[in-house]
Amino acid sequence: MNLLDEIAGAKTIGIAGHERPDGDCIGSCMACALYIEKAFPDVRADVFAQELPGSLLKNIPASEKIRYNGATDIEHYDCFIVLDTGAGRLAEAEKHFESALKTINIDHHVSNPGAGDVNCIDPEASSTCEVLYRTMDPSLIDEKIARCLYIGIVTDTGVFRYNTTSAATMELAGKLMGYCKDFPDIVKEVFYAKTPVQQKVMGYVLYNSVLSLEGRLITGMITYDELQRLHAGINDIEGISSQLMLTEGTEAAVFIHGSQNGEFRVSMRSAGRVDCAAITGKLGGGGHAGAAGMTFTGDPLDMIKTIEQMVKDQLDAV
Ligand code: AMP
Ligand code: MN
Ligand code: MN
Repeated sequence: MNLLDEIAGAKTIGIAGHERPDGDCIGSCMACALYIEKAFPDVRADVFAQELPGSLLKNIPASEKIRYNGATDIEHYDCFIVLDTGAGRLAEAEKHFESALKTINIDHHVSNPGAGDVNCIDPEASSTCEVLYRTMDPSLIDEKIARCLYIGIVTDTGVFRYNTTSAATMELAGKLMGYCKDFPDIVKEVFYAKTPVQQKVMGYVLYNSVLSLEGRLITGMITYDELQRLHAGINDIEGISSQLMLTEGTEAAVFIHGSQNGEFRVSMRSAGRVDCAAITGKLGGGGHAGAAGMTFTGDPLDMIKTIEQMVKDQLDAV
């Protein structure tokens, strides 16, 4: 796909990623907006998102342009671009996607069948930022666009650690680093750094984590009440499932947290033998083989039992 060909003629473009934006989501959205406005200065490209973690708000260029709560004066966008998800997870931007004249979907989730009139989805790609880059004219990339793409790649690969990191990912990251001389600070701030509250939540979950299936599954949980007691918000739980997954001997990690509306969210990780998306996909969620998620209402202990059985079935079948 050539992005500029696909949006040719559009004067208003809406852009959104998934709820609870991560680095790849907001990195790809903002890179897309900056790129379009650079190529076509008379086109308006609006980025919609939910509240960002502080580290992303600080490091994503032009983050002051982000529109919250779906706020806009445009009724029907000429074109709407959905990044790092399909439909159904766009929060307040969903209505703008539905009313747009043309829709484009760029993503790397294996669970996404394609939500746009035009789709560019590569489940093998490290990140949506990597897929988006392939749709761009490299000569238009500047420092701001490079920074957005680099942040998305760094965060979605766990700093080039996950098996979705390919030689092409590294080559692209190398090119982008040429624009981002402060890349060590970017990596530290958008991936490793934690606020004191985030460290406390992490510590709480790790301390109370439980091993099952002879140590092959690790489960961590925190209720909404407990999150409140620690003064933690929705953006203070990133990275916990990945940290659980670092426990020696484990094949899969499950992290469950409560939320304000009484729902629970599951974040799942695999060391390679367990297909997380196959499990969350059957339970109403999605994601990738190595990292997936879902939400549910009901008893979290029942859900843990259900997931445990599905993990066991997968491991027994290998
Ligand atoms: P998380 O555990 O929240 O970091 O999510 C892991 C991966 O699964 C990310 O790529 C998410 O975008 C994806 N994911 C999480 N929840 C869902 C869902 N309900 N539907 C589809 N994909 C999801
Ligand atoms: Mn994402
Ligand atoms: Mn992604």
